[in-house]
Amino acid sequence: KPVLGIESSCDETGVAVYDLERGLLAHRLYSQVRLHAEYGGVVPELASRDHVRKLLPLVRETLAAAGLDVAGLGGVAYTAGPGLIGALLVGAAAARALAWSLEVPAIGVHHMEGHLLAPLLEAEAPQAPFVALLVSGGHSMLIAVDAIGSYRLLGDTLDDAAGEAFDKTAKLMGLPYPGGPQLARLAEQGQSGRFRFSRPMTDRPGLDFSFSGLKTQVLLAWQNSDQSDATRADVARGFEEAMVDTLRIKCLRALEATGAKSLVIAGGVGANRRLRAQLAEAASRQGFRVFFPRPEFCTDNGAMIALAGALRLQAGQLESNAIKVFPRWDLESLSPLHAAV
Ligand code: ATP
Ligand code: MG
Ligand code: FE
Repeated sequence: KPVLGIESSCDETGVAVYDLERGLLAHRLYSQVRLHAEYGGVVPELASRDHVRKLLPLVRETLAAAGLDVAGLGGVAYTAGPGLIGALLVGAAAARALAWSLEVPAIGVHHMEGHLLAPLLEAEAPQAPFVALLVSGGHSMLIAVDAIGSYRLLGDTLDDAAGEAFDKTAKLMGLPYPGGPQLARLAEQGQSGRFRFSRPMTDRPGLDFSFSGLKTQVLLAWQNSDQSDATRADVARGFEEAMVDTLRIKCLRALEATGAKSLVIAGGVGANRRLRAQLAEAASRQGFRVFFPRPEFCTDNGAMIALAGALRLQAGQLESNAIKVFPRWDLESLSPLHAAV
């Protein structure tokens, strides 16, 4: 039976219905970005209150789009962490209450496992073992996926996450919040080669990332420039090339270190067109396979939570009815799934 998925870890309310046999039946997303824009970042208390306002209408809308009544649900999945505690509690409380009243199981999903499994929503899905690059607003991680649920951290960021670096770089050049996607759009118009920034930590072994130095390089270049629109696009291009090159180099290194033949890219930065093109090209040149979610499932969404929850429920993972969330939650602490996927 289909599983309802609820995402509310940050500033998007996402709801979806996923069925392991029939696939994704419906999904809806409400983004709070306009609400937070005037503050230049997410205001946690405003985020929680807006989830309260939007969640139930979105659940009704999604069920209607799937042609389902609540009684047709076989389970409810929700993001239990990591994320903003108040925002997480809204989704967790609603999901647990709904599941309890329907007498179906509820399951708390790890947000980053959701991102990591999002490519399984596509027709061409990866099979473990594979290496996953998770690049989002709060994380930059390389992970060895030995089986679904069995994750080994190969590399992590020492400072800013990749998406955070996109957003902060956009901000320092005067782009409005949230700047990452806008910076990427500008970069496509920019001239390649006018600004060249370093590829941090690629000149020494290891799989960790560091992006705060790159951000400082961009700041200095920008401050010492004429600050015209054309220059902004050229700097954006230089930044994006440095970022994408760095991610590509580390992905290839991780594939080599693990011997894996498949690579998964997920998280908001996975929507980046240059990153997708460069890795697709590297894959065909070097003979590995690369898998991405469609761009709208790279950023936060309910579909990835419904899918991850459906897999965990199928594997028989049981939890108490307590409403528990984990603002910080280690991905490596999850239990492996033994069910065939
Ligand atoms: P986390 O998943 O780590 O908790 P998050 O949920 O806030 O963080 P996501 O929703 O996965 O992050 O992704 C949002 C991030 O993706 C933002 O930092 C945004 O700038 C970045 N992003 C979105 N689209 C693009 C793009 N086309 N190019 C580069 N970055 C992008
Ligand atoms: Mg967001
Ligand atoms: Fe996310």
